Amino acid sequence: MDDRQFRNAMGKFATGVTVVATEVEGSVHGMTANAFMSVSLSPKLVVVSISERAQMLEKINQSGKFSVNILSSSQQDLSMIFAGQQKNHHEVKFERLGEVPVLDGAVAQIACEVSAAHIEGDHTLFIGRVTDIHIEDFEPLIYFSGKYRKLAEG
Ligand code: FAD
Repeated sequence: MDDRQFRNAMGKFATGVTVVATEVEGSVHGMTANAFMSVSLSPKLVVVSISERAQMLEKINQSGKFSVNILSSSQQDLSMIFAGQQKNHHEVKFERLGEVPVLDGAVAQIACEVSAAHIEGDHTLFIGRVTDIHIEDFEPLIYFSGKYRKLAEG
Protein backbone atom coordinates (compact mmCIF):
# COMPACT_ATOMS: atom_id res chain seq x y z
CA MET A 1 0.00 0.00 0.00
CA ASP A 2 1.51 3.37 -0.95
CA ASP A 3 0.79 6.87 0.39
CA ARG A 4 -1.43 7.75 -2.58
CA GLN A 5 -3.66 4.73 -2.08
CA PHE A 6 -4.03 5.52 1.65
CA ARG A 7 -4.89 9.18 0.89
CA ASN A 8 -7.39 8.14 -1.79
CA ALA A 9 -9.11 5.71 0.58
CA MET A 10 -9.34 8.31 3.40
CA GLY A 11 -10.69 10.85 0.89
CA LYS A 12 -13.69 8.55 0.33
CA PHE A 13 -14.92 9.53 3.79
CA ALA A 14 -17.15 12.56 3.10
CA THR A 15 -16.66 15.27 5.73
CA GLY A 16 -17.50 18.83 6.54
CA VAL A 17 -14.70 21.39 6.45
CA THR A 18 -13.49 23.40 9.44
CA VAL A 19 -11.07 26.24 10.04
CA VAL A 20 -9.20 25.77 13.32
CA ALA A 21 -8.12 29.14 14.76
CA THR A 22 -6.03 30.30 17.68
CA GLU A 23 -4.28 33.44 18.89
CA VAL A 24 -0.73 33.91 20.12
CA GLU A 25 0.49 37.30 21.36
CA GLY A 26 -2.35 39.14 19.65
CA SER A 27 -1.82 37.43 16.28
CA VAL A 28 -4.57 35.13 14.92
CA HIS A 29 -3.63 32.01 12.95
CA GLY A 30 -6.15 29.86 11.04
CA MET A 31 -5.81 26.47 9.33
CA THR A 32 -8.23 24.39 7.28
CA ALA A 33 -8.87 20.95 8.79
CA ASN A 34 -11.33 18.14 8.16
CA ALA A 35 -9.79 15.73 10.69
CA PHE A 36 -12.28 16.76 13.38
CA MET A 37 -14.79 14.81 15.42
CA SER A 38 -16.79 14.84 18.60
CA VAL A 39 -15.25 12.65 21.36
CA SER A 40 -17.37 12.81 24.52
CA LEU A 41 -20.66 14.31 25.77
CA SER A 42 -19.80 14.35 29.49
CA PRO A 43 -17.41 16.09 29.64
CA LYS A 44 -17.89 17.77 26.23
CA LEU A 45 -14.77 16.96 24.21
CA VAL A 46 -13.76 17.22 20.55
CA VAL A 47 -10.56 16.29 18.70
CA VAL A 48 -8.60 17.85 15.84
CA SER A 49 -5.59 16.22 14.18
CA ILE A 50 -2.77 18.62 13.23
CA SER A 51 0.24 17.74 11.05
CA GLU A 52 3.74 18.05 12.51
CA ARG A 53 4.48 20.22 9.45
CA ALA A 54 1.71 22.74 10.20
CA GLN A 55 2.55 26.04 11.86
CA MET A 56 -0.72 25.58 13.76
CA LEU A 57 0.86 22.86 15.92
CA GLU A 58 3.23 25.22 17.75
CA LYS A 59 0.54 27.95 17.92
CA ILE A 60 -1.93 25.69 19.77
CA ASN A 61 0.85 24.36 22.00
CA GLN A 62 1.57 27.98 22.98
CA SER A 63 -1.99 29.27 23.39
CA GLY A 64 -3.60 26.16 24.92
CA LYS A 65 -6.88 27.17 23.25
CA PHE A 66 -8.47 26.95 19.82
CA SER A 67 -11.75 27.34 17.99
CA VAL A 68 -13.24 24.99 15.42
CA ASN A 69 -15.35 26.80 12.80
CA ILE A 70 -17.56 24.48 10.73
CA LEU A 71 -17.70 26.19 7.33
CA SER A 72 -20.90 26.97 5.46
CA SER A 73 -21.45 26.21 1.76
CA SER A 74 -20.62 29.87 0.94
CA GLN A 75 -17.19 29.70 2.63
CA GLN A 76 -15.14 27.60 0.18
CA ASP A 77 -12.88 30.64 -0.35
CA LEU A 78 -12.01 30.61 3.37
CA SER A 79 -11.20 26.90 3.21
CA MET A 80 -8.79 27.59 0.35
CA ILE A 81 -7.25 30.63 2.07
CA PHE A 82 -6.58 28.73 5.30
CA ALA A 83 -5.21 25.71 3.41
CA GLY A 84 -2.64 28.00 1.79
CA GLN A 85 -4.19 27.44 -1.67
CA GLN A 86 -5.11 31.09 -2.27
CA LYS A 87 -2.19 33.42 -1.65
CA ASN A 88 -3.41 36.88 -2.78
CA HIS A 89 -6.49 37.07 -0.66
CA HIS A 90 -8.38 39.81 1.14
CA GLU A 91 -7.91 40.29 4.87
CA VAL A 92 -10.01 37.86 6.91
CA LYS A 93 -11.78 39.35 9.91
CA PHE A 94 -12.21 37.25 13.03
CA GLU A 95 -14.78 37.77 15.78
CA ARG A 96 -14.48 36.41 19.32
CA LEU A 97 -16.26 33.68 21.22
CA GLY A 98 -15.05 33.66 24.82
CA GLU A 99 -11.26 33.76 24.62
CA VAL A 100 -10.75 32.50 21.05
CA PRO A 101 -11.03 34.00 17.54
CA VAL A 102 -13.93 32.68 15.42
CA LEU A 103 -15.20 33.13 11.85
CA ASP A 104 -18.47 34.93 11.20
CA GLY A 105 -20.79 32.99 8.85
CA ALA A 106 -19.72 29.54 10.05
CA VAL A 107 -22.39 26.89 10.62
CA ALA A 108 -20.99 26.37 14.11
CA GLN A 109 -18.27 28.05 16.17
CA ILE A 110 -16.84 25.81 18.90
CA ALA A 111 -14.46 27.29 21.50
CA CYS A 112 -12.10 24.87 23.26
CA GLU A 113 -9.34 24.62 25.83
CA VAL A 114 -6.72 21.95 25.19
CA SER A 115 -7.29 19.14 27.68
CA ALA A 116 -4.74 16.70 26.19
CA ALA A 117 -2.34 16.37 23.25
CA HIS A 118 -1.33 12.98 21.84
CA ILE A 119 1.44 12.68 19.26
CA GLU A 120 0.50 9.86 16.89
CA GLY A 121 2.80 9.29 13.91
CA ASP A 122 3.23 12.57 12.01
CA HIS A 123 0.16 14.26 13.56
CA THR A 124 -0.83 15.55 17.02
CA LEU A 125 -4.34 14.89 18.28
CA PHE A 126 -5.53 17.86 20.33
CA ILE A 127 -8.41 16.98 22.63
CA GLY A 128 -10.42 20.16 23.24
CA ARG A 129 -12.71 20.71 26.21
CA VAL A 130 -15.61 22.72 24.79
CA THR A 131 -16.12 26.02 26.63
CA ASP A 132 -18.59 27.80 24.33
CA ILE A 133 -20.68 27.14 21.19
CA HIS A 134 -22.52 29.31 18.65
CA ILE A 135 -24.72 27.72 15.95
CA GLU A 136 -26.30 29.18 12.77
CA ASP A 137 -28.88 27.64 10.44
CA PHE A 138 -26.66 27.54 7.30
CA GLU A 139 -25.93 24.73 4.83
CA PRO A 140 -22.48 23.11 5.36
CA LEU A 141 -19.53 22.90 2.97
CA ILE A 142 -18.70 19.26 2.13
CA TYR A 143 -15.34 17.69 1.12
CA PHE A 144 -15.20 14.34 -0.69
CA SER A 145 -12.50 12.71 -2.79
CA GLY A 146 -10.43 15.90 -2.94
CA LYS A 147 -13.32 18.11 -4.12
CA TYR A 148 -15.70 20.56 -2.50
CA ARG A 149 -19.40 19.64 -2.64
CA LYS A 150 -22.74 20.87 -1.38
CA LEU A 151 -25.54 18.85 0.21
CA ALA A 152 -28.24 17.78 -2.23
CA GLU A 153 -31.89 17.70 -1.10
CA GLY A 154 -32.84 14.12 -0.17
P1 FAD B 1 0.14 28.26 6.73
O1 FAD B 1 0.22 27.24 5.68
O2 FAD B 1 1.27 29.20 6.97
O3 FAD B 1 -1.20 29.05 6.80
C1 FAD B 1 -2.33 28.61 6.16
C2 FAD B 1 -2.87 29.73 5.30
O4 FAD B 1 -3.74 30.48 6.12
C3 FAD B 1 -1.82 30.70 4.74
O5 FAD B 1 -2.11 30.95 3.39
C4 FAD B 1 -2.00 31.94 5.59
O6 FAD B 1 -1.81 33.14 4.87
C5 FAD B 1 -3.47 31.85 5.98
N1 FAD B 1 -3.73 32.50 7.27
C6 FAD B 1 -3.38 32.03 8.50
N2 FAD B 1 -3.80 32.92 9.45
C7 FAD B 1 -4.42 33.94 8.80
C8 FAD B 1 -5.08 35.14 9.23
N3 FAD B 1 -5.15 35.51 10.52
N4 FAD B 1 -5.65 35.93 8.28
C9 FAD B 1 -5.60 35.59 6.98
N5 FAD B 1 -4.97 34.48 6.50
C10 FAD B 1 -4.39 33.67 7.41
N6 FAD B 1 -3.95 19.63 7.74
C11 FAD B 1 -3.93 19.06 8.99
O7 FAD B 1 -2.89 19.08 9.65
N7 FAD B 1 -5.05 18.47 9.51
C12 FAD B 1 -6.23 18.41 8.82
O8 FAD B 1 -7.24 17.89 9.34
C13 FAD B 1 -6.28 18.98 7.52
N8 FAD B 1 -7.42 18.94 6.80
C14 FAD B 1 -7.48 19.57 5.59
C15 FAD B 1 -8.70 19.57 4.89
C16 FAD B 1 -8.82 20.19 3.67
C17 FAD B 1 -10.16 20.19 2.93
C18 FAD B 1 -7.68 20.85 3.12
C19 FAD B 1 -7.79 21.55 1.78
C20 FAD B 1 -6.46 20.86 3.79
C21 FAD B 1 -6.35 20.22 5.05
N9 FAD B 1 -5.14 20.23 5.78
C22 FAD B 1 -5.09 19.63 7.01
C23 FAD B 1 -3.93 20.89 5.25
C24 FAD B 1 -3.72 22.28 5.90
O9 FAD B 1 -4.88 23.09 5.82
C25 FAD B 1 -2.57 23.02 5.17
O10 FAD B 1 -1.43 22.20 5.14
C26 FAD B 1 -2.26 24.36 5.84
O11 FAD B 1 -1.58 25.19 4.91
C27 FAD B 1 -1.40 24.24 7.07
O12 FAD B 1 -1.40 25.49 7.71
P2 FAD B 1 -0.21 26.03 8.61
O13 FAD B 1 -0.69 26.06 10.04
O14 FAD B 1 1.06 25.32 8.31
O15 FAD B 1 -0.08 27.53 8.20
